[in-house]
Amino acid sequence: MRVDDLPLSPEYVEHFRAEGIEELYPPQAAAVEAGVCEGRDVVAAVPTASGKTLLAQLGLLTADGPGLYVCPLRALAREKYEEFDALPGVSVGISTGDFDSPAAELADHDVVVATSEKVDSAVRNGAAWVADLACVVVDEVHLLGAPGRGPTLEVTLATLRRRAPDVQVVALSATVDNPEHVAAWLDAELVESDWRPVDLRTGVYADAAVRFDDGTTADVDGFDPDDPADGGDTEATAALVREAVSSGGQALAFVRSRREAERLADRLREEGLADAAEIGPDAAAVAEEVRDAGGTELGERLAESAAWGVAFHHAGLRSQHRSVVENAFRDRRLAVICATPTLAAGVNVPARRVVVRDQQRYTGTGTEWLPALEVHQMCGRAGRPHLDPYGEAVLVGDADDRDELWERYVEGEPEAVESQLRDRDALRTHTLALVATGIANSQAGVLEALGGTFYASRTPNPDLGGIVGDVIGELIEMDMLAPDDGGIAATELGEQVSRQYVTPRTGERLVAGLRTAAAMDPADVTPLTALELVCATPDMHDTYLGERERAAMYQYAREHGSELTTGMGETDDFEGWLESLKTARVLAELVEGVPPEELVADYRIGPGDLESRVERTEWLLGAAGAVAAVLGIDLPALESTRASLQPDSTEAP
Ligand code: ADP
Repeated sequence: MRVDDLPLSPEYVEHFRAEGIEELYPPQAAAVEAGVCEGRDVVAAVPTASGKTLLAQLGLLTADGPGLYVCPLRALAREKYEEFDALPGVSVGISTGDFDSPAAELADHDVVVATSEKVDSAVRNGAAWVADLACVVVDEVHLLGAPGRGPTLEVTLATLRRRAPDVQVVALSATVDNPEHVAAWLDAELVESDWRPVDLRTGVYADAAVRFDDGTTADVDGFDPDDPADGGDTEATAALVREAVSSGGQALAFVRSRREAERLADRLREEGLADAAEIGPDAAAVAEEVRDAGGTELGERLAESAAWGVAFHHAGLRSQHRSVVENAFRDRRLAVICATPTLAAGVNVPARRVVVRDQQRYTGTGTEWLPALEVHQMCGRAGRPHLDPYGEAVLVGDADDRDELWERYVEGEPEAVESQLRDRDALRTHTLALVATGIANSQAGVLEALGGTFYASRTPNPDLGGIVGDVIGELIEMDMLAPDDGGIAATELGEQVSRQYVTPRTGERLVAGLRTAAAMDPADVTPLTALELVCATPDMHDTYLGERERAAMYQYAREHGSELTTGMGETDDFEGWLESLKTARVLAELVEGVPPEELVADYRIGPGDLESRVERTEWLLGAAGAVAAVLGIDLPALESTRASLQPDSTEAP
């Protein structure tokens, strides 16, 4: 099937031709046959790089009205925004930032690209445009199975379909065990394929050789495992990377932690990869770009490493540094990226060879095997279209675990997608939202609305009555819902908590903290007060507190006790609170003008972690202000602290 056979206007056909797209890839053709251009609902479970973007565009461009593209990550949303914006005559809006803005202006676009949280927030804030949608594309729909964001995705999609009953849904999934269940939920046609534009072979390394799933076995060039210097997973990884780069490829190496990613990059520098890949001057330019993007000690280490053609990539890096690395790798100005698994779920960075050195992760109490779905996503990054004859993914093991690796990840099926909606925290949040947005006004109404979820479609007797009854009771106790005319209604507080997009538990904590702050001597209310108030909520990320720091934080808590809304003896989770106080302390120093690079060094946190904490804090301080207004509490420290956290004042020089 050819692009000019499609019901598309000539300028789109021309645009796709200019991109090198003439003939549809088989999964794309299957989606067209399933009716994606005629408004039919379609679920496509296909591998990475099989052309999901075009498939999405076919739905959006042929729909009779505005479209929405929902994806899980901001970096991904940005990438899609740019691809859609390049389409001739299509106006594209993007919504990934503030959690609570009503986003009414998005109504003016042909296509809106947004994260699922942002769509949920828009629905809760009554955005009228959702009712006018003609097509919704949900990328990475297998994340229905992820705790936390999975329930948000299924409830949001159920609500969207309720608001716009004729909306076309196009859902894109990684290869999972049960795409038919997702299709059945959406009453959609299923397109399932394992076709890839570049062949992929997957293998397991052990004892100096790789056994591939195409039946071949290959030695690793110049590698002798009996030589003590060559033993171990890291040495095998280095050899596998060197081999790929020497033969004109690029490599991605996945390891379990941030520290390991940096360590492996340090080790790989010795391999002379920039020379092997003939990218010396390019790599030096990448190092300069990293430096230009801002100065932290971690950034400097990244720059030094990039100059050797080797980068590391993890969530501790500032987002700008991460995108410099991703872009440079795509432009073949880096030979290798050593990454944590998060890179596999992110933007498009194809490589000749993917080496998965670690297949287990720490859980806090021990280690566990990574899900096959996750490992398959890493492996799926192998094979650059038009550049590589084939892609190769190698799992590094040894004589003891090679069979297990083979069974789990080479032969093993990816996991099934299972709903996580039965989670009490998720149901509390969504119950409040359904009532606050007027979708439900009784327990029966909540249950009816939840009847449109993936959970309900998978469960013959979706017995949610007990939990929903319980969480309604809790929400009434929190003063967020109240009995009303035989049913239930949201209180002003409940409505505000839902609109501000904080969880009820966070709302409850804000109410208590605000009341305490209002009763404090005003001279004691400082930025630290405002920051401790929001950092001690469940919606804030924890900050790791080392053993040695604990005593110092304890001392700090005593010294600043009069400024804090939590008394040291009052909390059930003292350790957790001490961790949140550390976050508050770091942010308070930032507000005082301590440069971010000093803070990341002093407190041993990643620059990317500081960045995300600042952003969450701005959002939570805004939410606290809105809750304070409902309670009739005036606390100027909330707004002034938020103002001093604005990006300009936190940008590294
Ligand atoms: P993914 O399925 O991972 O989202 P993309 O949609 O980003 O993959 O497609 C991967 C690459 O394949 C892109 O560079 C895209 O331009 C190219 N591509 C997609 N469809 C076709 C096609 N039918 N013919 C040629 N190239 C295509």
